Amino acid sequence: MKKAFFLDRDGVVNVDHGYVGHYENFEYLDGIFSLILYAQEMDYLPVIVTNQSGIARGLYSEDDFVALMAKVQQDFTANGIGEVAVYFCPHHQEGNVERYAVSCTCRKPKPGMMIRAAAELNIDLANSIMIGDSWRDIEAADSAGIQKSFYLSNSPVTPAQSRSISTSHNVYHVNDLDEVKAVL
Ligand SMILES: [Mg+2]
Ligand SMILES: [Zn+2]
Repeated sequence: MKKAFFLDRDGVVNVDHGYVGHYENFEYLDGIFSLILYAQEMDYLPVIVTNQSGIARGLYSEDDFVALMAKVQQDFTANGIGEVAVYFCPHHQEGNVERYAVSCTCRKPKPGMMIRAAAELNIDLANSIMIGDSWRDIEAADSAGIQKSFYLSNSPVTPAQSRSISTSHNVYHVNDLDEVKAVL
């Protein structure tokens, strides 16, 4: 079994400009290529798990998203990174595109994307890692049985947030991607 390095997308791989559905708005975070490369060298399989309610909201299509991520993979490849698997949730209950306006099991904080990735890619979740800039990323990881996460945020972790995850789950609060390397 492989261990995965799960990455949220918006706010971790790219700057979260809000509903980024096109390459023109895709601005990489400093250090993301070297971090993914490092994770790969440490035998982690990089896997992006991302909520994309912009699709349910009709702001961009699933095809737009797939085309964007193909370009992102080209950039990864140009930087020496291998294939990065991408799992996305196009749903939102209040979306205005009917087929996506459902209550699903994949939108974080639900763990559906990690569970599916684990089954399809033979991932050992207990030895995998999550990095996210939203607490719901950490909750999703927790529900999936992940024991180690990085919370990339300028906000402190509140006591209520701490209580929302299992005590065996180590969450490292980091301010930038370079900090992640030190404890990976
Ligand atoms: Mg995010
Ligand atoms: Zn979903």
